[in-house]
Amino acid sequence: MPERPLLFTPGPTEVRPEVLLAMSRPVISHRGAEMEEMVRDILAHAKRIFRTEGTVLLSTSSASGLMEGAIRNFVRRRSLHLICGAFGDRWWQIAADCGAEPKASRVDPGRAVDPDRVDQELATGGYDAVCLTHNETSTGVTNPLEAIAAVVRRHPDLLFLVDAVSSLGGIPVDVDRLGIDVCLASVQKALALPPGFSLCSVSERALAAARRQKGRGYYFDFVRLSESSTKGMPLATPSVPHLFAIQVQFAQILREGLEARFARHAVMAGRVRAWARERFGLFAEKGFESDTVTCVANTRKIRVADFLSRLRQRGFQVSNGYGALKEATFRIGHLGDHTPESVDRLLAAMDEVLGG
Ligand SMILES: *Cc1c(COP(=O)(O)O)cnc(C)c1O
Repeated sequence: MPERPLLFTPGPTEVRPEVLLAMSRPVISHRGAEMEEMVRDILAHAKRIFRTEGTVLLSTSSASGLMEGAIRNFVRRRSLHLICGAFGDRWWQIAADCGAEPKASRVDPGRAVDPDRVDQELATGGYDAVCLTHNETSTGVTNPLEAIAAVVRRHPDLLFLVDAVSSLGGIPVDVDRLGIDVCLASVQKALALPPGFSLCSVSERALAAARRQKGRGYYFDFVRLSESSTKGMPLATPSVPHLFAIQVQFAQILREGLEARFARHAVMAGRVRAWARERFGLFAEKGFESDTVTCVANTRKIRVADFLSRLRQRGFQVSNGYGALKEATFRIGHLGDHTPESVDRLLAAMDEVLGG
């Protein structure tokens, strides 16, 4: 195997050897009792991770596919996009490219979505759905999901679509309690699996709305996907190695316990934030810093590309800033199966690079 730095990128992240090994199991047919048993087991575990009694859909695609699917299934005409960074922008762009009339409600990068503003936006009416990025991976901001959900839920006809791609499994997301209609996630972030697969929860209300919707397409038709899910079957040929890996990893996530997992993420984030505050600054607005990814404000004006390559020589990989923030920030992913101890080793290595 070639030398490889440890991934502290905010997706993909490190994958445990046991999970990688599961992916090399011999292939099984995706039509048969063995598959059905595995899919049912994965779905039962996934519902506990999403904290929902609703339907969970499995998708052999990254989450961007489900973001597009969500628009095509649930937005007849107008969607309201609560945007605080690049991934919120992406969802707006997807909606525009799908021929919807998406309205962008933006706050400056680094700031969190303000529930009061959401209330004002919704007062104008006329929306089919509200799209929110729970944890904005480009700026290290976690939006106040609970407060925003409370505002959205005052409008019974609106569908609430949440991108929890970089939060599910690392930061609490209570789908049923908050009344989230669609919650989507990729596996390569806080779920700590190899990239290339995603999943989402869908409420009954949302499925009813989808059934009335025209032009849902096929591969990301949430109605078809939910029918397959009910039968414990994939819609089309799935990435079977991913299913092997997901089965192993979801069982482990629930063995650790969601609350313990969230607490571990909070400890890792606390250490990284303390490190960053002392040496640089935090890009995220105070009180909304993410527990899965820290976006460090490059207040010392170091050359980020040099810093990253010298850190890589020491065996660690973090990410530069996203898009326009490339040199103004760098990002540390402390998510998935990392531990406070592995984070400490990263912080020590970053200090060596900064000092030398
Ligand atoms: C990574 C990410 C995405 C895109 O997910 P893909 O798996 O790359 O399609 C969307 N939203 C957020 C918040 C992300 O972190």
